[in-house]
Amino acid sequence: MHRPGKILLNICSRRFLKGFQQILGAKLSMVSSGISSSSAPFSYVPVNKASTTLPEATIKRDKYSHRTHNCGQLTVANVGEKVELCGWMEFQRMNKFITLRDNCGSTQLIVPDERTDLTKTIEGISYETVIRVIGTVNPRPNSQVNKNMATGEIEISVEHLEILNPSKTQLPFPIRQFIKAKESLRMQYRYLDLRFPEMQRNLRIRSKVLMRMREFLINKCNFVDIETPTLFRRTPGGAQEFIVPTRNPGKFYSLVQSPQQFKQLLMVGGIDRYFQIARCYRDEAGRMDRQPEFTQLDIEMSFVDRESIMMLTEDLLVESWLEELGEISTPFEQMRYDDAMELYGTDKPDARLPYKLQNVTDIVKTSIALTTKTGIEYNDNFGAYAVVFPKESKNFSNSTKAQFDDISKREFPQAKLLQVKITESSWKSGLTTLLSNDVVDSIENRLNLHNGDMLFLSVGQKPDVQEVLGKLLILYTNILESKGVTLRAPGFKWLWIVDFPLFSKEDNENGIRTTHHPFTQPHPEDLHLLATDPLKVRGLHYDLVSNGWEIGGGSIRIHNSLLQKQVLEILGIDTCQMSHLLEALDSGAPPHGGIALGLDRYIAMLCNATSIRDVIAFPKSMEGRDAMSGAPIQISDEDKKLYHIRTPAD
Ligand code: ASP
Repeated sequence: MHRPGKILLNICSRRFLKGFQQILGAKLSMVSSGISSSSAPFSYVPVNKASTTLPEATIKRDKYSHRTHNCGQLTVANVGEKVELCGWMEFQRMNKFITLRDNCGSTQLIVPDERTDLTKTIEGISYETVIRVIGTVNPRPNSQVNKNMATGEIEISVEHLEILNPSKTQLPFPIRQFIKAKESLRMQYRYLDLRFPEMQRNLRIRSKVLMRMREFLINKCNFVDIETPTLFRRTPGGAQEFIVPTRNPGKFYSLVQSPQQFKQLLMVGGIDRYFQIARCYRDEAGRMDRQPEFTQLDIEMSFVDRESIMMLTEDLLVESWLEELGEISTPFEQMRYDDAMELYGTDKPDARLPYKLQNVTDIVKTSIALTTKTGIEYNDNFGAYAVVFPKESKNFSNSTKAQFDDISKREFPQAKLLQVKITESSWKSGLTTLLSNDVVDSIENRLNLHNGDMLFLSVGQKPDVQEVLGKLLILYTNILESKGVTLRAPGFKWLWIVDFPLFSKEDNENGIRTTHHPFTQPHPEDLHLLATDPLKVRGLHYDLVSNGWEIGGGSIRIHNSLLQKQVLEILGIDTCQMSHLLEALDSGAPPHGGIALGLDRYIAMLCNATSIRDVIAFPKSMEGRDAMSGAPIQISDEDKKLYHIRTPAD
């Protein structure tokens, strides 16, 4: 059987240089600089087609490289052919069997017993050394056929083996089992991490999906792919932006948080249908599904309504869908924002979940005990919600309870959380500490509670009372699924969330912020409330959600400058800062709307990746750092001077 890689690496490290010199002979020359031969670097020798000693005429090469095939391509149909492969030595055994890997797969090489010269060569090289081989495709003996490998029915009998570039012996992690290496190491040595077949697959899926999206938008729908600037002026009222200093003292650019204003201006410019695979920047705390720079498919169209943008988006996803991902059927279901909060406690519901929130406000509101014991008031915002996991209390441990209590207190301070295992005897005492006995009985009846059920109940102020249960619904489902209980339905559950409030409450001077962005059109039915009760106004905004991930969002925009000015003023935004946009809207702006799809998240979902970092070639860490180069880094005193920057240390 295969020897563990580590042992082999040690053997290789000792013999490496000696073997290497023997192999390469005249091909590589030592740099004569007085360095002893055992530690001297090798000079670079370009490889070309002429470097093989085998007759050229027998080999049919790829048009753009000197290979004939990739490492995942050869089958019994190629038996007898003379081939040339290049790749990384993934593994070797007995200096005779080699697994050669490239981006397409792996192929087994076998060195004939009589080729002791090649055996010696192999003895001296480390894993991940780049090699080139020429040989003949042979069928593997029946007993050695590997059905799990695309090339498992053949092997290459090696006639020529050449080292293109040796790898050092001690790489930071072996390229054998994906995600076995620590993520910080993987990020630091990303160029090695990219060699994992999983990363290769993810990046190729990404490329293929984007190509299909482009094809659909440009060829089938007449969209124009337009690049817009990333250096721009600060957009008030949005996410925190990265500031870019200039040589002009006191003058700064901002990196765009999205091409939002540009795409609207393109509509004013008569472009009509725009898209861009756009890089966006937001200086926000890292999350599992967001990093400071990210990519979105940005779309804008003129003369459209909400339904047309949704339909276009659905068609786009269907057209770019990969068959291997299973079914995607349209139209997607629509859910009002209020219903999403009511049923799932979040605006990005995972509709695969079997259990939902249940509203028990009407029952709890009759409990005098709650007010006397906690001081919670039954105001307009009061809410009481429950989630029941029938027969699923056995996996609920004390540590889970402590973890959930902690989340509730920290993230949802306006909600009081009760977690109760329904048992035959004294479970009610877990609720009667806060609620009157008759109220607890009514809850039992309404929720149809039975022995063995797990009950989560939250009381207090909306939206905290809903959001805390929304979070626990996911967390407890994850815990149960990790123990082998299947709860989520298979496949993708798509949802459009509509009728968001245009504004949300905020602890700022103005007490209000936009739910989407300040350019979203108010719902025409609610326009009369704009001046008097803005928090009741709905926006023409829509989010696309799948399996609990927000995949995209967009809106119909305000195209009237007076209405835009009014919304900016409600938000307390200085309209002078937006005069370029207001003027454009006054210059014959067509009605327009659009959407942006978060490509990193979307592709991660398609690839079934646990993090967006697994679908980005060179991602940032959760803290926004580039682990490979160490960026962000300090700058020199000269640069500081040039950009008029002084740090606290200066
Ligand atoms: N610009 C918005 C965003 O980045 C998307 C849109 O409204 O089209 O979230």
